[in-house]
Amino acid sequence: MSDDQLEIVTASLTNVGLVRTKNQDSCGEFQRPDGTHLLVVADGMGGHRGGEVASAAAIQIIGRHFENGVGDPVEFLGQAFGAANDEILRLATEDPKLSRMGTTGVAVLILPDRSAFVANVGDSRAYRLRDGKLSPITADHSWVAEQVRAGRMSEEEAEDHPRRNVLSRCIGIQPLMEVDIDAVDIQPGDQFLLCSDGLWGLVPPSQIVEILEHQDAELAASQLIALANERGGQDNITVQIARFPSTTPREDTARLSASSPDATLELPAIDVPDAPPRSMLLPFAIGAALLLLGAALLWSGAIESPFAQPSALADPRGIER
Ligand code: CA
Repeated sequence: MSDDQLEIVTASLTNVGLVRTKNQDSCGEFQRPDGTHLLVVADGMGGHRGGEVASAAAIQIIGRHFENGVGDPVEFLGQAFGAANDEILRLATEDPKLSRMGTTGVAVLILPDRSAFVANVGDSRAYRLRDGKLSPITADHSWVAEQVRAGRMSEEEAEDHPRRNVLSRCIGIQPLMEVDIDAVDIQPGDQFLLCSDGLWGLVPPSQIVEILEHQDAELAASQLIALANERGGQDNITVQIARFPSTTPREDTARLSASSPDATLELPAIDVPDAPPRSMLLPFAIGAALLLLGAALLWSGAIESPFAQPSALADPRGIER
């Protein structure tokens, strides 16, 4: 790999969790020959097969747009998400059993010039880990998040609120959909984490940091999923990691670079039928008590959103799932 090409290590995993019978999450990881990467997580909702269909369609349509070329990054992300919205609406119109299905969507587009863009609709999240600090780079489109941003609810109240699953914005529900798109800079050593609420709702940021900083990308993804399942696994869990090695070479960089295909379009989702064994979590059991103590402090101290902005409710009725 030449010095001027951006090195990147990625990992993607999705898991049904311990309670649900179906996995309505989907994820996709795409790469172009010029080194441009796209990671996407979608968390579907809707009865019958709706949730699975919606999240898979979103990944497929966004991936297909990527295959056709990126051009202007902001324009690309807006058009790709818009096309996913149109397709899910079309599928729901064709089959009454799929009516009112929808999905969240969060995507990180990484360009060879070391710039990145994040796009978001719904309450799946993207974070950037830098120097031990995990910062959200998306703002949730949920009823409780809107209340927190408006100062009407605390973060703690939102965590346990009975309406915490109500989305204020969603792909595939309305013909007009607003997408949040922001530029994000990358420095050597940074990591991006994309995940569905099955992870961030159960695993505190301090433990996410601990795992991301000390494991290679693939092991970190499986350990994050295992930890969510240890904590009940009430929801489907999806994790994607994109890691930019620091100037000090890392073992996992060399390994993944050697096995990277020239251009991949893997559709969609790597399904993990079983949670990793409990023994994988043993190293964390000892640290857990200490980490839990620090978690409350870190939650307020370590988490800040450079992009969090109040936004109007797209659908004041909310989208229940
Ligand atoms: Ca979910």
